[in-house]
Parts: sequence; C-alpha cells; structure tokens
Amino acid sequence: MALEAYCQNAACRRFSVFDLDQLIAALGPDYLVSDIPPLDCEACGSPMEIKLALVPPEDVEGPLE
Ligand SMILES: [Zn+2]
Repeated sequence: MALEAYCQNAACRRFSVFDLDQLIAALGPDYLVSDIPPLDCEACGSPMEIKLALVPPEDVEGPLE
C-alpha cells in the first residue's frame, strides 16, 4: 500500500509516492491512516493533497468485455 501526494501549487504540481509501510515504521505501530500528518511539498513548500493509492476492488473498473 502506498500514499500518493500531489502538490497543491498549480505552478509546481509535484507528485510523490510514500510507502505506507515505511511511514508506519517511522511513526510507530499506533499510526493510523486517518492521522496522516500534513505534508509540505519538498520542492516549493506548499501543502500537498494526500490520497491512498490502494483503490477498493469494488471501485476498480474491470476490463471491457
Ligand atoms: Zn510543490
């Protein structure tokens, strides 16, 4: 599982992926996905929008038939 983060600065739009296992390892076993701390873009310092990269199976569109 991974977290995707998008810079909110339209002039930057940096995209980063964070390994959730690494975040849990860094922040401890009590870390909750709902408690993701605010992240700032490492390029421009603007707040980043964070999304879970893991999509629930029911929301995934299957191959067209
Ligand atoms: Zn940025």
